[in-house]
Amino acid sequence: MPDFDVLVIGGGVAGLRAAIAARQAGASVALISKVHPLRTNSAVAAGGLNAPLGIDDSLADYVRDIVEVADGLADVQIAQTFAAEARDEIIWLDRMGVPFNRDSKGKLALRAFGANSRKRSCYVDDRTGHAILQVVYEQFQRARIPAFFDCFVTSLTAGNGTSPAVTVLALRKGELELFGARAMILATGGFTQLYAPSTASLGTTGDGHTWAYLAGARLMDMEMVQFHPTVFPGGPGLLITEAALTGGAEIVDQDGNLLIQQKVLPREKLASAVFQAAQKSGRVLLDLRRLAEGQLNATLPQTCELVQAVAAIDPSKEPIPIHPAAHRAIGGIETDINGRTSVSGLFAAGECACNGLNGAGRLAGNALTEALISGRRAGEAAALYARSEHRREPARAQLADEERRLKSLVATEKVRGDSDTTLKLHTELAQLMDRNVGLARDASSLQSALDHISRLKERYGRIRLHNASLIYNSELTSYLELGSLLNIAELVTKAAQARTESRGAHCRTDFPQRNDSQWNRHTIVSRVDGAPYVGTRSVQA
Ligand SMILES: Cc1cc2nc3c(=O)[nH]c(=O)nc-3n(C[C@H](O)[C@H](O)[C@H](O)COP(=O)(O)OP(=O)(O)OC[C@H]3O[C@@H](n4cnc5c(N)ncnc54)[C@H](O)[C@@H]3O)c2cc1C
Repeated sequence: MPDFDVLVIGGGVAGLRAAIAARQAGASVALISKVHPLRTNSAVAAGGLNAPLGIDDSLADYVRDIVEVADGLADVQIAQTFAAEARDEIIWLDRMGVPFNRDSKGKLALRAFGANSRKRSCYVDDRTGHAILQVVYEQFQRARIPAFFDCFVTSLTAGNGTSPAVTVLALRKGELELFGARAMILATGGFTQLYAPSTASLGTTGDGHTWAYLAGARLMDMEMVQFHPTVFPGGPGLLITEAALTGGAEIVDQDGNLLIQQKVLPREKLASAVFQAAQKSGRVLLDLRRLAEGQLNATLPQTCELVQAVAAIDPSKEPIPIHPAAHRAIGGIETDINGRTSVSGLFAAGECACNGLNGAGRLAGNALTEALISGRRAGEAAALYARSEHRREPARAQLADEERRLKSLVATEKVRGDSDTTLKLHTELAQLMDRNVGLARDASSLQSALDHISRLKERYGRIRLHNASLIYNSELTSYLELGSLLNIAELVTKAAQARTESRGAHCRTDFPQRNDSQWNRHTIVSRVDGAPYVGTRSVQA
């Protein structure tokens, strides 16, 4: 059995950064990812990443913006630590060779982005995530860290006196193997493929959240799901970065009249404003022609290319229809500032983790910085933990159990003509979540979602797969991902049901006000007697 001090699951920005940090701290490390790092969700990040680098900016200003957007739920000390470390991560990226845009003096160019009150987002045109990944991946390779790509983790055991272990399906060989470690870092990204439409890449299915929950970890603020305000509705979640708005684009109606005057708003508020405008006037459009002369092609080249390819619209000639779409999980696996979860030996970083920084809303441009800082901190903490931890035998029965489970799933059976498929159920689930647990929810939509999810779970159990092989069996991996999504759907909906107020990304039409006396608290979902239980914990001042 391959065995390491630290095993990282996930090859996006958070996972790569965690692996490099753990290696630099002296640990033996390996990384597993179901896709190659350059195809992760991190690669599609567009607008930029934040640090208070401008001469008119300060740590205090940055913290104030984070706390304001978090709408009363930010853990302020976490925000202060995060803000203080942002600059060094960007300087590290710059030194390692990220080709950041520069101003006329050769300094890092800073762009206005979302509700940041200062220009503080460093960027590489509108291909920031891709450029960062190239460089972080290069550093990962230079550290000679063993990597297992196209390897799908199917289950995890942790806690209860065992060292963490995962079963890994090597897609190329079709073989299942057990990997153990003294410490494990989940950097498995978000879960917004739970919704349709969604801006997230296909594998963003909350796999890590599900294993953590099943292993006894606590999940925090799961009801907080961020919707992006400016997404082309007809395509596969084509997002037009909000940097376009701060650069001069306007949100208009069919006749070119301004629909939204105040466009520099927290993303949660802007998404809600676009949603309401769409309900009133039907079509909402983003007019990129209002950017300053030459700016469109100079700063948003990828957006121009994609809009032409996906929407068949030339943004220099006509406005683009937009609609809000699910974008990023704000809640996730509860951790401390060093990525420690409530299960010993298990750490989490990046989009799958939730340490209280973002509360009820996330500032645009903070996710990549967060992936870097939380990845580095989790890598260092996991290496330290591994050094002091005695190796305990992993539960070897896990491999045999999992082998039996996968074989039973792919065992060919005569499929009845009207049998459900994974795609059919996923589409139904994602539409249900968008309709009932989306930008606006109430008690009745949430209860009906829970009833529907429970029926979908029954139907899921009856799906039969056609492909009997374990080699690159995307029918099987999509089926496993849907299992995670069904689980997450229940957790998100139960947390949304519990929070009887509106705040940040959570809008209850039956409780439209923020209720500080009762709800200035994080929701915590944990598994009690095999079922989700929603509790709360206080916000750390
Ligand atoms: C269109 C778009 C634009 C964005 N723009 C910005 C922006 O301008 N600025 C910003 O700050 N943020 C932006 N974001 C958000 C940001 O990109 C993400 O929050 C961040 O990159 C997440 O990084 P991560 O490493 O946590 O996860 P990911 O990059 O999602 O990586 C997850 C990793 O986990 C692996 N994994 C998951 N499940 C399994 C499994 N079962 N087995 C094995 N491996 C598994 C995946 O293969 C992948 O390697 C944007 C997001 C999108 C979708």
